[in-house]
Amino acid sequence: MSGQLIDGKPIAMKVRAEAAERAAAFAQAYGRPPGLHVVLVGEDHASQVYVRNKERACRKAGLAGQVHRVSADLGQGRLLALVDELNTDPKVDGILVQMPLPHGYDELEVIARIDPAKDVDGLTAVSAGRLALGVPGLCPCTPVGCMRMLAEIGCDPEGKRAVVLGRSNLVGKPIAQLLLQRNATVTIAHSRTKQLGDLVREGDIVVAAVGRRALVQGDWIKPGAVVLDVGINRGEDGQIYGDVDFEPARERASFITPVPGGVGRMTVAVLLSNTVDAAYARAAG
Ligand code: NAP
Repeated sequence: MSGQLIDGKPIAMKVRAEAAERAAAFAQAYGRPPGLHVVLVGEDHASQVYVRNKERACRKAGLAGQVHRVSADLGQGRLLALVDELNTDPKVDGILVQMPLPHGYDELEVIARIDPAKDVDGLTAVSAGRLALGVPGLCPCTPVGCMRMLAEIGCDPEGKRAVVLGRSNLVGKPIAQLLLQRNATVTIAHSRTKQLGDLVREGDIVVAAVGRRALVQGDWIKPGAVVLDVGINRGEDGQIYGDVDFEPARERASFITPVPGGVGRMTVAVLLSNTVDAAYARAAG
């Protein structure tokens, strides 16, 4: 058996098209498009590429996107002041400070400064708390994208064993919360987890969000499991690889995301949709 590929491209296109449609309706109703403001501190190459992709995606979906490119030596105080400015600007619906910040910045303090109503990355304590309580709010984009992929392949997490590898605030914890909300029985693994292979073998749904190429071996995959590979690892050949040893895992999975071309496609699409959600929620007061 060879598992079916979950192609991120058409699913992400669908999410983008939905966001574009809702953005147009918002503009019609309120006389301006939803606005996403991205703050890029310094010149990290990968961050520059990510931010350019976000800028382009905003334009295509009819959102008002603006990137604030500032020098790495701006300093914590002035960065916080910029976040304050965006917090109070009524035309700004979403604020995203591109991580990681250069050495010397306190990322947690910067995140904490973002108005939760504009927290389209879902990283503030308020957003994380809402997610933990199961009340509506803005959720981190990649986990929401993973849930959308499950929905698109008709995989209902209810009653399933889900194993999430990684416990970051950006991916691991929020995806675990979302799976729990959908009544999966969730286990979260991390760097101190023992017998990782045995745990993964129990998973009907496996989400790998670690950042280690081929950590998840093919024979760890329960036959018929759904495998979502969030990992992005650059090989010595310059290519991008996931956290899952793809070919052998595919032999056992029912569905599996490729890397690249899988989960990675979803993140920016959900960012657009979170921005439109934030715009409507703010407009509703
Ligand atoms: P992160 O903050 O570095 O977290 C990595 C997690 O993996 C940590 O919880 C860590 O455990 C755990 N871990 C490390 N080694 C492990 C091991 N041997 N076994 C089990 N768990 C282990 O990374 P992140 O931001 O969550 O991102 C994870 C991966 O997803 C990265 O490759 C990143 O590039 C990728 N990513 C992709 C997208 C996308 O759009 N596709 C978006 C975001 C991130 P401890 O907590 O114990 O240290």
